Amino acid sequence: MHSPPVALTIAGSDPSGGAGIQADLTTFARLGVHGATAITAITVQDSRNVIDFDVLPTRRIVEQTEIVLADCSVAAIKLGMLGSADTVEAIAHILAQHPTIPVVLDPVMVAGGGGELATEAVVEKTRSRLLPLATLITPNLPEASRLSCGGDPAFFGARLHELGARNILITGGDALESSPTSSGASPIQNLFYRENGSVQIFELERLPYSYHGSGCTLASAITAFLAHGHNLETAITEALDFMNRAVSAGYAPGKGQHVPNRLCPASA
Ligand code: PLP
Repeated sequence: MHSPPVALTIAGSDPSGGAGIQADLTTFARLGVHGATAITAITVQDSRNVIDFDVLPTRRIVEQTEIVLADCSVAAIKLGMLGSADTVEAIAHILAQHPTIPVVLDPVMVAGGGGELATEAVVEKTRSRLLPLATLITPNLPEASRLSCGGDPAFFGARLHELGARNILITGGDALESSPTSSGASPIQNLFYRENGSVQIFELERLPYSYHGSGCTLASAITAFLAHGHNLETAITEALDFMNRAVSAGYAPGKGQHVPNRLCPASA
């Protein structure tokens, strides 16, 4: 029987199962990819917000990453919450030794409920070391703003290119956060800034509720499609389609935010 491709996620654990490693593994499995993991942090959170977290020692994160890379033929890597500047540096060092593996960087900074998941030192190291190493970065608007050091959102893509990012997908789901989110509201615009300078807009219907784990779901779905051998444009198109279906079928597993239903049918 044909073996599924292997994707590695380097990310934090979310005990509520909404985001982080748990979201990545569910997405990988749903999209026919074997998920390997390097856990960077143990968060304490429910479906409402993050209460606290411990980051694992950098040495342990490096060991998990290296043992997987030495053992498996890893077809794509996804980076989520990395936890400390030392870990960002160590992961950058490892990625530089594997330049042919596509890397999707979700620069996680804040939990859906507002809790901070990255210090300024992590953001700075991500900017200087990881942007140039990622095949694609998938910041939401606040993350793109912080990585770009603020300014006019119209220039975030150009600024991130200047900082060394190759391909950038700025997701727009947070753009109207304070507006009532209901069907019929203006669509979500996801802006894809390609390495060659061209820009493509992917629009998605804006659905009710705010969704915990949507950033992780999108980045891990793109990683899964890359692991299957699709080019970046197809991977993004397919992953947005999957996200749309997962969010349309979303549900609230606890007393807080909704999560995308990553167990929704894999194709329409
Ligand atoms: N990674 C972890 C471990 C998290 O706890 C969170 C949010 O709580 C995220 C990533 C980011 O989640 P989202 O996909 O909602 O941006």
